[in-house]
Amino acid sequence: MEKEDLISNFKKVQAKIKKAAALANRDPQEIKLLAVSKNHYAEAVEILNEAGVSYFGENRVQELEEKNEKLIEKGIDIDWHFIGHLQRNKVKYLMRMENCQMIQSIDSLRLAKEVNKRAKKNERIIPVLVEVNMAKDENKFGIMPEEVKDFLKQIKEFENLKIEGLMTILPYLDDSQKLRSYFKQMKKIYDDVCENLMPLNELSMGMTNDYQIAIEEGATIVRVGRAIFGEREY
Ligand SMILES: *Cc1c(COP(=O)(O)O)cnc(C)c1O
Repeated sequence: MEKEDLISNFKKVQAKIKKAAALANRDPQEIKLLAVSKNHYAEAVEILNEAGVSYFGENRVQELEEKNEKLIEKGIDIDWHFIGHLQRNKVKYLMRMENCQMIQSIDSLRLAKEVNKRAKKNERIIPVLVEVNMAKDENKFGIMPEEVKDFLKQIKEFENLKIEGLMTILPYLDDSQKLRSYFKQMKKIYDDVCENLMPLNELSMGMTNDYQIAIEEGATIVRVGRAIFGEREY
């Protein structure tokens, strides 16, 4: 994609975020745009970073490392968020990357333990989100909605994790009412945790298809790929 198109896509998404925030009487400043650059070149990340995108997301460790290396060589230091299913044997590579700023996809106790252990080895405290399988989709990872509080209680004591909030990936649905209802349920769980268990700062929900609805329902991070980068080619 051409540089002008990337930048104009970014500006369009930014404008839509503002509009959705206004509709919900929210301050647009409290909503972070995570540009999901998977399957796209490091050059596109460089262009968008220069244009003012502050956060980028990747879902595969190797791809993330390769892109990051290219950018670091050019002196470009990106704030990366890891958003994919993370295999435990890959955690060590991620924790070595100083500019991997958040893991949004903590989806099991075993993974949480491994991340905690590797973070400790690297003498760092890593911000994390717990992934919730809100739609109880068999093809997706994540903690079941009714188990979120117990799960948080278990990982709360892990000293090298900083639990920042919750994340969810919904299935592709045409039914915006249905999507809205899942987002509402996520917000309910989030508020319940904040009131009764621990303070949280981030609710990561909404992708190209549904980020405006997610913002109306309380998202603080939206993860947008195709609306910025165009369709992914595999
Ligand atoms: C790919 C991906 C996205 C972005 O999806 P788009 O439909 O391209 O906006 C968001 N979150 C996760 C976890 C993803 O894997």
